[in-house]
Amino acid sequence: MVPVLPGLFLGSGLKDAEEAGKGVVTAVLLVDLEPPSYAEAELEAVLRVPLLDEPQSDLLSRLDACAAFISRARERGGCVLVRCYAGVSRSVAVVTAYLMKINHLPFEEAYAFVRSLRPEAEMNEGFEWQLKLYEKMGCEVDVTSALYKQYRLQKVTEKYPELRDLPRDVFAADPSVGRQAPSHEALYKCRKCRRLLFRASSVLAHTEGKGPAAFAHKRLPDPASFQRGGQSACTSYFVEPVEWMEPALLGVLEGQLLCPKCSSKLGSFHWHGEQCSCGHWVTPAFQIHKSRVDEVKELLAGSGQSGR
Ligand SMILES: [Zn+2]
Ligand SMILES: [Zn+2]
Repeated sequence: MVPVLPGLFLGSGLKDAEEAGKGVVTAVLLVDLEPPSYAEAELEAVLRVPLLDEPQSDLLSRLDACAAFISRARERGGCVLVRCYAGVSRSVAVVTAYLMKINHLPFEEAYAFVRSLRPEAEMNEGFEWQLKLYEKMGCEVDVTSALYKQYRLQKVTEKYPELRDLPRDVFAADPSVGRQAPSHEALYKCRKCRRLLFRASSVLAHTEGKGPAAFAHKRLPDPASFQRGGQSACTSYFVEPVEWMEPALLGVLEGQLLCPKCSSKLGSFHWHGEQCSCGHWVTPAFQIHKSRVDEVKELLAGSGQSGR
């Protein structure tokens, strides 16, 4: 095992697990499907993150918990060993993320530092992408943020390639069904029949203008026209899937999104992504044309019920 910071070691396999039993290490963070060794199980604190070393594995959602575990042990004056099986990908990714978070380092810098200590370090490309996303999130995973929701939807697409039997929480609650908790959030209605379709919190905003060069000839957006969420050049709202979309989405790669009440065309979806009018690719994409919906402010607590 190699020392990374005071109170933090990076390691691999059983040899380091045995080393952990010799008194220096007080806590172990094991990123593996295997259980901790006997020696490790005896330590003050053990955190096991059961993940395979595969690009599809969702490490991002666990990074804050890993960092908190490492910090807690170090603050107590202890010493943490972060290890996986080979000490090449999973444990390297966790230690890199920890350095990014506590030392406010960009991904590249933190990763280069870990590689200088452990030349065989080579995290898989999925983890690399997740750590870059972690950096964009300010090294703090906010599960209600658009970035995280979009990430989560991509993970769902990878995990359920048949696009069937999706977890229930993939779909946002239908604002026109049942009583909703009172909020001051804006809602969006079908322009034609006024049915409530989605809440402002379901809009997954992206930064404009990251499109390919093909879009470069377009005039730059007028700064005054920038709206909340910076979506002025975007002619669609990209949203998370809402319950009423479910029958259209399950088992189908792409298609149209129709109003569940009047069947007028609202937009389209593609699980493998679509390009926004601003040039940005959104994957997966559930887009509603802005011209087909109206934004309304909720006037009364619980008025989401009426749909009018
Ligand atoms: Zn309608
Ligand atoms: Zn856009």
